[in-house]
Amino acid sequence: MSTLTFGIIKPDAVRAGNQGKIIDRIVANGFKIRGMKLIHQTTKQAEGFYAVHAGKGFFGELTEFMSSGPCVVLALEKDGAVKAWRDLMGATNPAEAAEGTLRKDFASSIGENAVHGSDSDENAAVEISYFFSKLELV
Ligand code: ADP
Ligand code: MG
Repeated sequence: MSTLTFGIIKPDAVRAGNQGKIIDRIVANGFKIRGMKLIHQTTKQAEGFYAVHAGKGFFGELTEFMSSGPCVVLALEKDGAVKAWRDLMGATNPAEAAEGTLRKDFASSIGENAVHGSDSDENAAVEISYFFSKLELV
């Protein structure tokens, strides 16, 4: 069944000029882009988005990084979109990411790992509505 997931091309990947290549790979892998925009989050917005990780040792580093520059936020549609997008992203730690994944090709560390993806259909809906209004989704 065709479903939606939420993705981010993180500030490290945009800084490195890899956003176009990543969008190419998204389209080539059969995702339909239902929403896409360039944003620069405040640290507060990043803290809200990653609230589930509040209290973890890397929370400050993560929210600082996510607000360090522009990123591309995406609403992506595909059959089983959540899993399909996580499969294309690869493991959180690029050292463990499989060949052919975005994190293998574009991530530099476990923190600065190029892309984000929702981990469930429920969280995908919450995350899409955190960044997109209805008018911004096609
Ligand atoms: P994923 O993004 O693969 O779903 P998590 O939800 O576990 O991974 O973590 C969210 C983000 O927090 C990661 O993508 C990464 O940017 C950062 N992160 C996770 N673990 C660490 C860590 N040990 N050190 C630094 N940053 C981390
Ligand atoms: Mg996660």
